[in-house]
Amino acid sequence: MRLGSSWRWQLSRAMRLALRWCRLCRPHGGARGVGAKTLIYNKLLELWSYSKLLLKSLYFNSLSNSDTLLDCVFEPVYCIVDNVTRWFGVVFVCLVVLLTTSVLVIVYLFVLPTILSTYPLHWISWHLCIGHWLLIMVVFHYYKATTTSAGHPPKDKIHIPSVSICKKCITPKPPRTHHCSICNVCVLKMDHHCPWLNNCVGHFNHRYFFSFCLYMTLGCVYCSISSRNLFLDAYSAVESYYQTSPPEYTFRETTAHKSIIFLWVLTSSVAVALGGLTLWHGVLISRGETSVERHINRKETKRLKEKGKVFRNPYHHGKMNNWKLLFGVEKRSHWFTRVLLPSTHLPNGDGIMWECTFTRRDPMAI
Ligand SMILES: [Zn+2]
Ligand SMILES: [Zn+2]
Repeated sequence: MRLGSSWRWQLSRAMRLALRWCRLCRPHGGARGVGAKTLIYNKLLELWSYSKLLLKSLYFNSLSNSDTLLDCVFEPVYCIVDNVTRWFGVVFVCLVVLLTTSVLVIVYLFVLPTILSTYPLHWISWHLCIGHWLLIMVVFHYYKATTTSAGHPPKDKIHIPSVSICKKCITPKPPRTHHCSICNVCVLKMDHHCPWLNNCVGHFNHRYFFSFCLYMTLGCVYCSISSRNLFLDAYSAVESYYQTSPPEYTFRETTAHKSIIFLWVLTSSVAVALGGLTLWHGVLISRGETSVERHINRKETKRLKEKGKVFRNPYHHGKMNNWKLLFGVEKRSHWFTRVLLPSTHLPNGDGIMWECTFTRRDPMAI
């Protein structure tokens, strides 16, 4: 109501000014001097400034700033990127399933028969155990990471501990909660939106995501090391195809050579790339931060440093405790049953209430 009456008042004022300006512009005897020109110029300036004010009063919002304006300008671009990522998520999941299956087929068809025919019994047992354990862990954690919801703030409850209001959902945002523009929903303890899972990584699936990265890296390292000799043989065999008198190879042999090269190149590349990502997430977990909080905390550290203060992350409970919190380790046996074996236990807490480590003397992070 106030805003409406304000702009109506501005409009009437601008109209009154325009009328006065018109009266001034009317030619009347001897008023065409320098003084009259200055007066007209001043009135024009005043009219211009009131018109600007009138225009601004139509869309003025005390919460608007340059960031909001930039967000509005780039909204169509964000919308396209979000939609493309959402659709590509399905393609990426299919790609992960397809590539993992192809690796599995090559290992069963070409690598395992070689191990069974050439290695001693204890090595065969070791390969069978470690290979199948890694396979089970990768499949279980990938399935759980893609199908488990990261967790969202309850929409029916208004009185929940919150630090702000989400501009998109218009709902209270609990600590560590952030809005995912791809899923278009607020996510509890949001880490990031993973296109390879086509899902958000947050409070309820963070452990599944990290375990998948860890076991996938270990699986790729295992495949890469165990097929290294076969790869070298296959590589020299493929090189011999281009000799002047190439050796005679059957179709099965040439297929095996190419498949083993594909297997080694793929698993080695994934081991390096995913290994780097896993290491980075390991560092973040040790610090008690999510990927989103890493950016926020870095800014906060800089801001407080300028004021001569030291930033302390309120969710950092010590390196080992952070790992225990992530894996849900409450006693020693849990390292075996909850970390080294597939486990569906829920994470600590509800993702809304968070235990903070700061005291009143410490600066608060978020
Ligand atoms: Zn939201
Ligand atoms: Zn998301």
